[in-house]
Amino acid sequence: MSLNLSPLPFDRSALEPHMSARTLDFHHGKHHKAYVDYTIAAIKGTPLEYSNLDVIVKTSKESGDKRLFNNSAQAWNHDFFWQSLAPIGGPGPTGKLAHWLMRDFGGIDQFEQAFKKEAVGHFASGWAWLIYEGGKLQVTSYHDADTPIVHDGVVPILTADLWEHAYYLDYQNARASFLDAFLSHLVGWRAAGERFERVLLREREPPRS
Ligand code: FE
Repeated sequence: MSLNLSPLPFDRSALEPHMSARTLDFHHGKHHKAYVDYTIAAIKGTPLEYSNLDVIVKTSKESGDKRLFNNSAQAWNHDFFWQSLAPIGGPGPTGKLAHWLMRDFGGIDQFEQAFKKEAVGHFASGWAWLIYEGGKLQVTSYHDADTPIVHDGVVPILTADLWEHAYYLDYQNARASFLDAFLSHLVGWRAAGERFERVLLREREPPRS
């Protein structure tokens, strides 16, 4: 399968006024595209040419090819970010994810406070994540292009892009305002809930011999 820039899973104006079409034009059409374009050019004619993105990210991490890792991991993180968003009016968490957020954070409000604190407190560029690790849901953040798929035992459930290009056109330097909009209006809870259900199902599968 050859790599390409996946289209946004929603219309470019579907997240307005919380995330503008202009932001998405730059963020998806310029920034994300540049990461994908670099990755495609870098793997051309190498053994990774027809690998999927997960493999490219993990292989470049292991081989110490920092430039390929940074670009391919950013491509992967952005794919996950678009899947973490949903048009306005989406319901809050339901089902098992709602239950586990209650169990591990004490409630959805407490989860949102923890996620916002982590994201706002993260120095410079990176990503805030809701992850599943060690049998529980947790909030964390990674710097620059770092991604959960190169951390053993970490399963990503939800992410917010903390690079300024994610919010500068709409919120200038006010990362906290972007996080408020993200948590109140933009989180794709349905997809996150489905991801989490698949994680729990996988855990119940017997180990392959
Ligand atoms: Fe970004």
